[in-house]
Amino acid sequence: MRIDVLGVGFDNLTMQEAVAQGVALLEQEGCHYVVTPNPEIVETCRENPAARDAVNRADLVLPDGVGIIKGARILGTPMKEKTPGIEFASHLMEEMGRRGKSLYLLGAKPGVAEAAAQRLQEQHPGLRIAGTHDGYFKEDGPVVEAIAASGADCVFVCLGAPKQELWMAKNGPATGARLLCGLGGSLDVFAGVVERAPKFWSDHGLEWFYRLLHNPSRIGRMMKLPLFLVHVKAEKRKRK
Ligand code: UDP
Repeated sequence: MRIDVLGVGFDNLTMQEAVAQGVALLEQEGCHYVVTPNPEIVETCRENPAARDAVNRADLVLPDGVGIIKGARILGTPMKEKTPGIEFASHLMEEMGRRGKSLYLLGAKPGVAEAAAQRLQEQHPGLRIAGTHDGYFKEDGPVVEAIAASGADCVFVCLGAPKQELWMAKNGPATGARLLCGLGGSLDVFAGVVERAPKFWSDHGLEWFYRLLHNPSRIGRMMKLPLFLVHVKAEKRKRK
């Protein structure tokens, strides 16, 4: 059973269990997708029913950071651990490399996915990069066709939330891929364009603050974080 945090159902898994399930989905017939919501996305889902549906219909819903873990604990339904999308993706690529699977990288500014592909290929020698496409396209059709033609087993969809979740729910099956993963700004990190917050910051639930310091224009988005905690506390009172 999933753990409900303000209307989003999370899978309660360790990272190892999450990766094992990701690998199992890759081996199964049909199209599956993974989402990795953080408090900001949960807040978006509260306001946007289509986004909430796309998130809850995913085959794996993984808590991206410590904010969700804290929220679940306050609600009296503690979870095993955080399973950040970018770390899940790294472990999954390790496994895909061992199995000779192919990966398509979709998203970020022009040139970023190519740079990420080059670095990921070096880090995971067995992994096959099936293709790349930037995230600033107008029509889905040609992109979906390009992915289908590449024969990719897996697609990392990095278009930001909730765009990537809606995109995967709508277009996933037509890509022909077995597994799609919505991973936000991960391609920027894989390409080395953006640095991930050091472990200290993420362990203390301060990754958002680190990102804000490096990119002050995120301030508007950050306002959703205190709102998330207010809503969690209100929900806790309601459940008592
Ligand atoms: N992006 C994109 N197409 C769009 C909007 C955004 O490819 O139409 C990319 C953007 O370049 C960035 C990623 O989506 O690489 C979103 O990053 P953000 O930091 O917002 O995501 P987070 O990791 O916070 O979810």
